[in-house]
Amino acid sequence: DRVISTDADRDEQLLEASIRPKRLDEYLGQQPVREQLKIYIEAAKRRDEALDHVLIFGPPGLGKTTLSHVIANEMGVQLRQTSGPVIERAGDLAALLTNLQPHDVLFVDEIHRLSPVVEEVLYPAMEDFQIDIMIGEGPAARSIKLDLPPFTLIGATTRAGLLTGPLRDRFGIVQRLEFYNAAELTAIVRRSAQILGIDCEAEGAAEIAKRSRGTPRIANRLLRRARDYAQVRADGRITNEVADAAMSMLKVDPEGFDELDRRLLRSIIDNFDGGPVGVESLAAGLSEERGTLEDVIEPYLIQQGFLIRTARGRMASAKAYRHLGLKPPAKASG
Ligand code: ADP
Repeated sequence: DRVISTDADRDEQLLEASIRPKRLDEYLGQQPVREQLKIYIEAAKRRDEALDHVLIFGPPGLGKTTLSHVIANEMGVQLRQTSGPVIERAGDLAALLTNLQPHDVLFVDEIHRLSPVVEEVLYPAMEDFQIDIMIGEGPAARSIKLDLPPFTLIGATTRAGLLTGPLRDRFGIVQRLEFYNAAELTAIVRRSAQILGIDCEAEGAAEIAKRSRGTPRIANRLLRRARDYAQVRADGRITNEVADAAMSMLKVDPEGFDELDRRLLRSIIDNFDGGPVGVESLAAGLSEERGTLEDVIEPYLIQQGFLIRTARGRMASAKAYRHLGLKPPAKASG
């Protein structure tokens, strides 16, 4: 497993409860998102209404689930959590919706993976707080309308473009999470270290932050790996040197890239003459899923300017060549 994987492992799911921010003030970074939500939440509370439906998109590990919990907390309501692939039948969704209390939040992770039948049921639920469900079968079957309590649907997805138009149009609030900068991640690492009782110097936190691919989940994981290293190889304190040595041991380089990132850049350069190369060919060459490349690996490489996405495919930038210790060809940009 990748140490910089964006999926939460079992340990992390257990830790989540203690380190996951609960209020907007503890949710670090994402300034524009926080400012807007603060207003929308305050306004909905003053009108004594459910918050408008919210779509949150952005790469895994950036805080979509956390933000949904924060919104529910700030609204003072319950959050029910599910995910697109888990809701198999229209009846599953109906059961979830009819169990909500007024103004509750229903959080649907991976909302782009809802089946078309379930999506159809969701439209009137979102729009009019009503659902039509079929009872019985054959000639005796009939449809009944059920009223729902006003609720807030929060949908999370990696890319807004994965949603169907009609579903996207039904969200009044659409927020995009960005990768966190080094200062924000440093603050996140320091906060987690404090909660978990980890002895971490400011420089150590900054070093971990720099290598976390702009992603809080990775920052928190690297912090725990650095703690292990500090306890066994040093005096337990995470200094700059300890963090650096721990990251080297994990083969996470100064840019926060691991083997897979470097293999991807290497493959474009060695096998496709620097690109452009289509994502399918690239995925096949690396034996990775196309979706993993597009959702997990590429966004950060692109944001940092190592990878360039063109109409004809992906290209390695001059920065990518230099990072791998190669001389960029004249045609490479960036
Ligand atoms: P996503 O749902 O986008 O995959 P999560 O909400 O599960 O990501 O966030 C991953 C972890 O990162 C959480 O356990 C949380 O502790 C931490 N985290 C996310 N966003 C923030 C933030 N803005 N401030 C502090 N910690 C955060």
